[in-house]
Amino acid sequence: MPRVTADEIVQIEIKIDEEKCVGCGTCISVCPVNLLELKVVGKKKKSCAPDQSFCLKCHMCEFHCGYEAIKVYPPFEGQQPTDQAKVPMRHR
Ligand code: SF4
Ligand code: SF4
Repeated sequence: MPRVTADEIVQIEIKIDEEKCVGCGTCISVCPVNLLELKVVGKKKKSCAPDQSFCLKCHMCEFHCGYEAIKVYPPFEGQQPTDQAKVPMRHR
């Protein structure tokens, strides 16, 4: 079995900007592992990621957020979907 060195382990980090997040829930609906949830902050709902350990690093939440409120690190290195592809099928 190949060995993985400490340098090869990439820590994932999901950052949610509560100033930008409007609590629409889109990121929650597209996450394939149901990692995201809404929490109440004051009188508003905001997305949060209480346990990031099982994140697939797929960046779907980031691509679909219309408010640029959620970022997944390290950044996506491939080709990002077009604007049309970002819109979930049910909203087209
Ligand atoms: S899609 Fe963006 S604005 Fe909507 S809940 Fe998620 S982070 Fe907040
Ligand atoms: S990167 Fe993918 S698996 Fe991780 S929180 Fe976002 S949608 Fe879910």
